[in-house]
Amino acid sequence: MSEQTPASGPITDGPADPEHDSTAAYGLDRSYVAALTRRIVSTSGETAAVTSPVGGTPLAHVPQSSAADVAEAFTRARRAQAAWAATPLDERAAALLRLHDLVLDRQEELIDLVVWESGKARKDAYLEVAHVALTARYYARTAHRHLDSRRVAGMFPVLTRAEVHRVPKGVVGIISPWNYPLTMALCDGLPALLAGNAVVAKPDAQVMLTALLGVQMLEEAGFPPEIWQVVAGPGPEVGGALVAEADYVAFTGSTATGRLIARQCADRLIGCSLELGGKNPMLVLRDADVHRAAEGAVRAVFSNAGQLCVSTERLFVADQVYDRFVDAFVSRTQAMTLGASHDWSLDMGSLISQAQLDTVTRHVEDAVAKGARVLTGGRHRPDLGPFVFEPTILEGVSADMECFGAETFGPVVSLYRFHSEDEAVERANDGFYGLNASVYTRDTTRGRSVARRIRCGTVNVNEAYGATFGSLAAPMGGMRESGLGRRQGAEGILRYTEAQSVATQRLVPIAPVLGMSEEANATVLTASLRLLNKLGRA
Ligand code: NAD
Repeated sequence: MSEQTPASGPITDGPADPEHDSTAAYGLDRSYVAALTRRIVSTSGETAAVTSPVGGTPLAHVPQSSAADVAEAFTRARRAQAAWAATPLDERAAALLRLHDLVLDRQEELIDLVVWESGKARKDAYLEVAHVALTARYYARTAHRHLDSRRVAGMFPVLTRAEVHRVPKGVVGIISPWNYPLTMALCDGLPALLAGNAVVAKPDAQVMLTALLGVQMLEEAGFPPEIWQVVAGPGPEVGGALVAEADYVAFTGSTATGRLIARQCADRLIGCSLELGGKNPMLVLRDADVHRAAEGAVRAVFSNAGQLCVSTERLFVADQVYDRFVDAFVSRTQAMTLGASHDWSLDMGSLISQAQLDTVTRHVEDAVAKGARVLTGGRHRPDLGPFVFEPTILEGVSADMECFGAETFGPVVSLYRFHSEDEAVERANDGFYGLNASVYTRDTTRGRSVARRIRCGTVNVNEAYGATFGSLAAPMGGMRESGLGRRQGAEGILRYTEAQSVATQRLVPIAPVLGMSEEANATVLTASLRLLNKLGRA
């Protein structure tokens, strides 16, 4: 594996922060950071450090929100929402299109901050920018298709006119994780805004600055200043207070936290979407192009250092191509460039934190102690960055090892050989997750048919994860314990609306008329129902 030295030196000039932080050492202007953190609703007087996994020192100290601050954020959001919902849909969509251009124009600034906060490779940070742009454009261009009121068939032709309206839920609470600081913080909220809602967001504490820069860009794109409120603090307290006030919750994070949030939402009888964890399988079928599959496997397993909900952690390879595939996969992995820096040439960046490093190390050590073989990788590399861990391929993983069924959320994959496709599908469907899968084969028809048998919310044929993730018209989310509801596509925006049906009855009531008895009315109604069925009416 080739190496990169850790980043040093500023990305822009700025005055030093004499108090707590290495803000200036990261090339961030102190007033720039202050302008971002001012957006947090906070009167508590408390702050928490956001520490960079690249340099290992605090980027900034971020104000924290109390439960009272969360309540205040909802008051402000509710005030703003009423006016926003009355704004014409075309104006709301136009703001999204301006955001599309803005994030592309200012991608360097966004990417720099994402890299400082998360330690990821620059190319992975760029994909966040691209995903925000894709999401903004898709919903702006399809706004009318999803949100316009529409006529539906009434009970009786001519006599009953029925229409369905899409009413915003009100204020949507968004709780997001740290692994994709920009896109996870923003993308669930864009359709919520378009549908006429306001948002109160609680980004993960480790990546607050990126989330705040995204919110600043929303305002620059023309969204009303108060429409997106930000609160900060520990998940159980601040997240809990947010769920207690929201009209709907969009949560992304672990299955354990998702379960807690689902219970809280059930108590309040509000809806929620839950985008949770996975233990995602990839199948390399016997007719796969092994070099294409190996290239895809590198991206499927090691993008974002494996800290990606849809990344592959279980790789099932057909007997016939196993050895050739493994050779190609291992040698591509060994050629990867690792490090923690802003360099475009990095193939894989750092893990975000000591906690992530501990989990990854524990999973690998446990597997090795119980007899798994490390084909490549397996070591922490503090010489490249505080939390850099080598891309790791394991063979001989068995059910007694922690990494067999539990999500590692790091750059570690287990290889398994299979003999028949039925067996491969059965093993892919093992466990309780069902988020994402991929299938490699030269026969794409067969690939799609295998895909349909895998119990995952998204399946990619001859691609790692990007084909489904980047196809914004296609819903994305998990089956089984990987989630509830979907982001993207029609489902991704309709979740933020209530369907309201208005039906108008004309000429005759839905009741006996002209002194008709109930029995005679039932006879007439029965004849009408038979006729409507004959006519093919829905
Ligand atoms: P996490 O559940 O610990 O935290 C996620 C968010 O929830 C954070 O903002 C956190 O502060 C908040 N939180 C924590 N406890 C809370 C509580 N009791 N009440 C309310 N909010 C609370 O998850 P994580 O470790 O930050 O993220 C990694 C997990 O997220 C992985 O399992 C990964 O697979 C999953 N993930 C899923 C998707 C998806 O689209 N399905 C995307 C990204 C990440």
